[in-house]
Amino acid sequence: KDFTYPKTQKAITINKTGGPEVLEYSDIATPSLEELKPNEFIVQIKYTGVNLIETYFRKGIYPVPLPYTLGREASGQIIAKGADVTKFNLKDTALFFKPGSFSQYVKLDTISDKIVNVGTNVSDEKLQKYTAGFLQGLTVLTFVEEAYKVKKGDYILSYAAAGGVGLIFNQVLKLLGANVIAVASTEEKLKLAVENGAKYTVLFDDPDFVNKIKFFTPNGEGVEAVFDSIGKDTFEKSLEAVKRKGTIVSYGNATGPVDPLVINRLSPKNVKILRPQLFGYITTPEEFEYYSEKLLKLISDDLVKINIFKIFDMKDYREATELMEARKTTGKILLKVPQ
Ligand code: NDP
Repeated sequence: KDFTYPKTQKAITINKTGGPEVLEYSDIATPSLEELKPNEFIVQIKYTGVNLIETYFRKGIYPVPLPYTLGREASGQIIAKGADVTKFNLKDTALFFKPGSFSQYVKLDTISDKIVNVGTNVSDEKLQKYTAGFLQGLTVLTFVEEAYKVKKGDYILSYAAAGGVGLIFNQVLKLLGANVIAVASTEEKLKLAVENGAKYTVLFDDPDFVNKIKFFTPNGEGVEAVFDSIGKDTFEKSLEAVKRKGTIVSYGNATGPVDPLVINRLSPKNVKILRPQLFGYITTPEEFEYYSEKLLKLISDDLVKINIFKIFDMKDYREATELMEARKTTGKILLKVPQ
């Protein structure tokens, strides 16, 4: 009652697929207050996180109905709620996943959406860290436990090791006692990867890439597991670098989707391969609660540092993604949403 709820809001949208030029800073309708169902609430978004996945939607690698509002993860205050919502109060801050989060207001369903209540007392600094670490941190925590169960002493190859996911990977893998071999495109990025827990480094373009990786591992046998987010351009190298009975976790398309694979190619070394997505590991409320509690605790105990590259105003998302796509960013980019 103490605010005027607008009919339209600013959002980052696409109306066709393509390069950054198809991004629009548009006016779209706000979620209807009148049609709010008993189990739903509305959040005024404060921060929303940038992930490389937005470029896959924009480019058409993952087809979406158009027009489409980008964004997956965000945080903000609850400003209206339905009668059946009991675990959240007005003015609580929600941290959540929701398609269309590059916007000012979003409607959440407390039954089907993935939401954490971070209460009323969260500092701005902490909220930035939680939002910045949410999707990428959960990706890392679920993958090291379920995609490949990382063991103490393992040698693990990790690409884009100074990126948003990458910097968290280095830290978590080190906490688990693994030896991280980090790959990134510049010496500066490799230095940052080491500061965040990586033990060995290889430049992305190193002509002796696979041999260098093998050299770091016992008897030159290769790594127990590869976490490969680069996709098309690195699949063959990952297959060479993995040890007999090792695992390739292919989880991203930075250079495009991996070419179709003849599975017999896995036989010479009895390699396991999987192509997981985060949401397949946090499907049930129990799974989501288990991993999100673990993540927020790691962040608030400072056991996992969240490296925020820069906080852009939402209207400047194009500049942010252009930097990211040109491989000029490290860590996480957040967008600040106009209040
Ligand atoms: P990053 O911050 O890691 O940014 C992308 C990085 O990828 C770049 O900094 C760059 O690092 C590297 N890269 C290599 N080749 C290219 C290229 N041609 N274009 C752009 N970047 C390139 O992004 P995120 O942390 O958001 O995501 C990392 C990866 O993880 C992405 O591939 C993403 O899709 C994937 N992911 C998958 C999830 C899943 O559920 N399967 C969940 C979350 C993320 P460098 O310069 O060092 O090569």
